[in-house]
Amino acid sequence: MPTEKAAPAADVKKKSKTPETLRGFRDVLADEQAAWEKIESLARGMTQAYGFGRIRMPVLEQTALFERSVGKDTDIVEKEMFTFVDQGGVKMTLRPEGTAQVARAYIEHGMVNQSQPVKLWYFEPFFRHERPQAGRYRQFYQWGIEAIGSDDPVVDAQIILMAQRFCRDLGLDVIVQINSLGTPASRKDYIAELVKYFKQHKKALSETDLKRLTKNPLRLLDSKEPGMEELKANAPQIFDYLDEASKQHFMKVLEYLDETEVPYALNPCLVRGLDYYTKTTFEIVLNNAPSPELEGLALGGGGRYDGLIPMLGGRENTSAMGAAMGVERMVLAMKAANAMPPRREKIDVFFCQLGEGARRKGLAVYEKFREGGIMVGEAFGKGTLKAQLEIADKLKAPVAVILGQKEVLDGTIIIRDMESGAQEIVDVEKVVGIIAKRLKDVAEKQA
Ligand code: AMP
Repeated sequence: MPTEKAAPAADVKKKSKTPETLRGFRDVLADEQAAWEKIESLARGMTQAYGFGRIRMPVLEQTALFERSVGKDTDIVEKEMFTFVDQGGVKMTLRPEGTAQVARAYIEHGMVNQSQPVKLWYFEPFFRHERPQAGRYRQFYQWGIEAIGSDDPVVDAQIILMAQRFCRDLGLDVIVQINSLGTPASRKDYIAELVKYFKQHKKALSETDLKRLTKNPLRLLDSKEPGMEELKANAPQIFDYLDEASKQHFMKVLEYLDETEVPYALNPCLVRGLDYYTKTTFEIVLNNAPSPELEGLALGGGGRYDGLIPMLGGRENTSAMGAAMGVERMVLAMKAANAMPPRREKIDVFFCQLGEGARRKGLAVYEKFREGGIMVGEAFGKGTLKAQLEIADKLKAPVAVILGQKEVLDGTIIIRDMESGAQEIVDVEKVVGIIAKRLKDVAEKQA
């Protein structure tokens, strides 16, 4: 990517006097926050339950990390990385994905000496210079889980199960597409057969696919070019070329998935775009995509990468398995499935104030509620009681507290039951305790 030149016109949305986000970058506004928080808190709960520790990694890495791991001939490295040379002459890249980074961290911090597998998770933004469209951005967040240091198929099943259950718990109806890519050695034989097959059909291939045929033939299997469906369906299938150990490994993974009732479909064309995958690969897709923009988009995916740690200079035979889920796509899917959580947390009390003195005192009373762990709504910007009570109604507050000029002078405050309209006057110093007790009584009655 050029660094000195100004952004090409295509990367700024339109000529405008006011600054705007770059193409493919977006602000996450209030209407999505509840969904993002739900996703992150579910991720935290799920990883805690399965014994994963969090890792936070820098957004910039040496370019060589991704060239060596993801692969020079992959779409990501070839055309999607935001790469530049800094003032000190170092070539660096805004990370396009997390697995290579986690592998780097595992080696750099000697995690090989910890009890294996080392299980790590992250929830961070990544960057790819892709053509922006719905569900495809240039900055996007991933929830990633990685288990390094075990080649046991149960680890594969556990990661896949976590990804599937995660989507299910978000209210999404998903299925796992799964395949095995075997070992690099068995894959070599398969690729040779694949090339032979597609060479026989060279005339039917598009320019892009002809390039893939020479550079990265496996990628022909996820080509969406017209006419490829039939060619792919008749192509040699990788399963027939798997070595015995990979076959056994794959069968075991499927057995575990059967046992835990994870819905899956075998997909011999699922190769994924990165060089480091071995054996199991999978993607999580929506069953009957609820909106056309989600058609064919994976919510997440991952697989086994037994060769990556040794390739980056770590200990030989360090096997690993991981997955990454796209946060923006999960939010899109939640919207389409009407599974968005309510925008605001339920509030316990709505705070109304009348007049300047009440507003001043009100700020301090409001703070006392907050310190007491009571969720309070307010509209300090509104003047009339009517307008404030209307908001309280909208927010479904069960009680409102009202502070007027008279109450400020008396050191009191009014508690109003929003349903019956009944009001009582109490000591302002005691109001937090009174409301807390009421809430406790209600909670106990409901339990
Ligand atoms: P990958 O790292 O390519 O396997 O992607 C894992 C998941 O990250 C995908 O299934 C998507 O949900 C998400 N993802 C990847 N690239 C993008 C992108 N450009 N925009 C939004 N989400 C993405």
